[in-house]
Amino acid sequence: MKRNFKKSIRCAVRLCVPRAIAGGRGTPTESLTLTQQHAMSALMDVDGESRGYTFEELDLIEAKMKREDEVEARRLAANDEWADRVVAEQEQLEARKAAEAAKRPPLPSVSAKEEELRRFAAALAPFGLTVDVVDGAGRGLATTRAFAAGELLLRVAPTAAVVDGASADSRCHESFALPKEGASLQRCSGCRFARYACAARQRDAWRCHQHECTLLKATRPRVPGATLRLLARLLRLPAPAGPVGSAGGAAGAEGAAAAWAAGSGGLMALSSALEMAEIAEERKLEMGEQAAMMSGLLAHATPGQPAPPPWLVAGILGRIATNALAVTDDELQPIGLGMYPLAALANHSCDPTAAQTFDGATLELRALRPLAAGAPLT
Ligand SMILES: [Zn+2]
Repeated sequence: MKRNFKKSIRCAVRLCVPRAIAGGRGTPTESLTLTQQHAMSALMDVDGESRGYTFEELDLIEAKMKREDEVEARRLAANDEWADRVVAEQEQLEARKAAEAAKRPPLPSVSAKEEELRRFAAALAPFGLTVDVVDGAGRGLATTRAFAAGELLLRVAPTAAVVDGASADSRCHESFALPKEGASLQRCSGCRFARYACAARQRDAWRCHQHECTLLKATRPRVPGATLRLLARLLRLPAPAGPVGSAGGAAGAEGAAAAWAAGSGGLMALSSALEMAEIAEERKLEMGEQAAMMSGLLAHATPGQPAPPPWLVAGILGRIATNALAVTDDELQPIGLGMYPLAALANHSCDPTAAQTFDGATLELRALRPLAAGAPLT
């Protein structure tokens, strides 16, 4: 092989190079083999002069090309090694994801869905409302008695609500109220972001704010957007209690159902954008990435605590995307973002039968016109 190679070079030099370099008519490079062309271009690099080469010079050229070949071989080997490592890491990641997926709770069965409907209906019963399954539109709210125009249909506190960035400096983060004339808001000394109308509001808020406060301290001076702050709060909700029993009679069952609907049970019973066919795959991927980022951020902000699993973060993010409502002021200007599972059951309509307003962060739904029993709320 070596001998042949050397012979090719000699051949190229003796027969072709002088003519090629001289630029004579009919440059014969096209008639050379690939090896000969390669040898020729190497010679041209070494010396552009049209002259003969001694065997010593040719040996030097051959040695130089051999060194270059070795460098190229090492580069290719390093590339292969890198590619193998990436593939191995990818396989490990897939295996971890599969293990994670295996730990996820199973999707709710038909009877679990029925149980959710039963609990929502029990929580709505005191208002004279129920949850209705409408063909083609999924679940919706409906009246169980007649309502007069303007009558209160539903009044619920949020499962969690946060003020948006534009109102963060001007409104109490617990009551969403503006400070009284001449008074100023008190700032949380931990994160220096949350503001409260008074010490009592700050005390009320602490149960929800404590986890968020750690997160805000970790991300300072940047402040996560309202969606991520709402997500942080919803992630810390206690897991839903067991089945709603009949202890304490109907009123007891309704109270337990109301607590379930206002907590993580009601939240997770809502539909998620990640499970909806009409949401673009691109948007779903984006939410998955946001979830992974948020999970990492929480792990970083609270090193002592286990980070919430990405599937749970993605599940809540998907429910925020579909169900979160903008909290508005008296002039219907948005001031925050909140999660209200019972109100989120109402379907959208271009000719609504109910109007939604807020008293602080508490949501109120009122009839826009007289409603008969069994009328859908939209
Ligand atoms: Zn704070």
